[in-house]
Amino acid sequence: MLSSKKKYIVNGNSGIKAQVRLSSYLQSCCRYSHYCKRPVAFPLLSCFRPFFWHKQIQFADQKQEFNKRPTKIGRRSLSRSISQSSTDSYSSAASYTDSSDDETSPRDKQQKNSKGNSDFCVKNIKQAEFGRREIEIAEQEMPALMALRKRAQGEKPLAGAKIVGCTHITAQTAVLMETLGALGAQCRWAACNIYSTLNEVAAALAESGFPVFAWKGESEDDFWWCIDRCVNVEGWQPNMILDDGGDLTHWIYKKYPNMFKKIKGIVEESVTGVHRLYQLSKAGKLCVPAMNVNDSVTKQKFDNLYCCRESILDGLKRTTDMMFGGKQVVVCGYGEVGKGCCAALKAMGSIVYVTEIDPICALQACMDGFRLVKLNEVIRQVDIVITCTGNKNVVTREHLDRMKNSCIVCNMGHSNTEIDVASLRTPELTWERVRSQVDHVIWPDGKRIILLAEGRLLNLSCSTVPTFVLSITATTQALALIELYNAPEGRYKQDVYLLPKKMDEYVASLHLPTFDAHLTELTDEQAKYLGLNKNGPFKPNYYRY
Ligand code: NAD
Repeated sequence: MLSSKKKYIVNGNSGIKAQVRLSSYLQSCCRYSHYCKRPVAFPLLSCFRPFFWHKQIQFADQKQEFNKRPTKIGRRSLSRSISQSSTDSYSSAASYTDSSDDETSPRDKQQKNSKGNSDFCVKNIKQAEFGRREIEIAEQEMPALMALRKRAQGEKPLAGAKIVGCTHITAQTAVLMETLGALGAQCRWAACNIYSTLNEVAAALAESGFPVFAWKGESEDDFWWCIDRCVNVEGWQPNMILDDGGDLTHWIYKKYPNMFKKIKGIVEESVTGVHRLYQLSKAGKLCVPAMNVNDSVTKQKFDNLYCCRESILDGLKRTTDMMFGGKQVVVCGYGEVGKGCCAALKAMGSIVYVTEIDPICALQACMDGFRLVKLNEVIRQVDIVITCTGNKNVVTREHLDRMKNSCIVCNMGHSNTEIDVASLRTPELTWERVRSQVDHVIWPDGKRIILLAEGRLLNLSCSTVPTFVLSITATTQALALIELYNAPEGRYKQDVYLLPKKMDEYVASLHLPTFDAHLTELTDEQAKYLGLNKNGPFKPNYYRY
């Protein structure tokens, strides 16, 4: 058994060190009892009670603020489950009732739910019933959150928690919020993206009593107004933050720094938000503990790889109705996202080329059966170009000039930067919007390329993303909130922490029953031989999966 005092130094993606101290709490909560046939008491909850009595945190009493606040547009890369610039287009799920005919700003409407409650601001509370159906559909694919709810029953690990959240408001988030509610938390919520809110889902949440302030198509001013309505409330002060992109955290730092005296922790999901937290930490200005959900294994390995493997074909199909078999595709970047895209396209019979700068990923691509090329070598012949690098200007105007007629160009990586779309906005080229999210860019000789989502993330803009993958991230968020909220004083300092591996393993284990998966248990002899605890963690932090 690992000692509770054992300390790991873990390098996150940013290369900045975060310390993770495995606690007896986590060790007990992460036993995989739920799918073992033996009857075992629900482990997560068995360890909550002692911590209810230790809710004080240390607070550095100086005024805090974000130093290097990025500009609002394009400042966020995807963390996703779903993190994208709040001003980027996002429409990942069909909306039943996108009442564009109703131009009245929700801020100017007087609305009440069926219980007479008006502490919310959504597009149209009457859409609640449609939203409830969306939430119920999402629940089917979010087994771990449903299991947490069921197992919590009488016990409320988040009793007394007042969580202010700023995430995409989708059916999946609604399942998370309602789970947090079932675990005892009070929540107030705003959207982290001005386009991503599903109005009917926001209405359903408001109808069930959640103070939600969000609608699709908020202005910049609305965006901050909604966040403010979540935190600036008489008689209610948050003690936990769940953020996606860092805007909420930034707002509290800027406007209500004293609130941090009561805040026990921040859970942050996105690359950018995490980066901002590390900056604060480095500058000694982070005044509460923060959990970096973005860099947990269950996020990186599942969200990036499986989400993209599932959604790349969907995004291409919906926008272009194309057939994949026999098509020549070049995928730029063979990291997690690139691997997912390549696997999906190969399975459909496409001829896939890969470009890479890193010899290790390049060798992986070769050994997975892909032709490694330079973009220049294939740019004239390919039918589809997909960028997945997280880099900038991977596809330049020169490449675009050389593409063949009807070549499809799209991006699955870092928002807006990978394809030099700006270089296409020149007088000699004509842009023709042929469908939502589909532009034909036409050269003077009549050649046209098909640009999808103006170079933004294809799957976030043009397709749905699998709920099951979002379930993994949402469960990680819920557990991070429970851990930070219940941690005794001193367990977490004013620093950014990676999720302990046991928690990652626990999140994975909660999703295994969906597949009727049967995990092998170590024998005592085997555990001793490998030097492992039978209940995990099963891998060292440097293990790469
Ligand atoms: P990664 O770092 O694992 O992979 C990126 C790969 O691109 C690396 O192997 C790198 O060597 C390679 N690369 C960098 N510059 C290149 C260039 N000029 N030409 C060719 N290859 C180059 O990252 P990842 O997890 O695969 O994520 C990639 C991007 O996708 C990130 O921006 C990430 O935020 C985003 N992302 C998108 C989704 C989605 O749903 N669309 C999901 C998760 C992450």
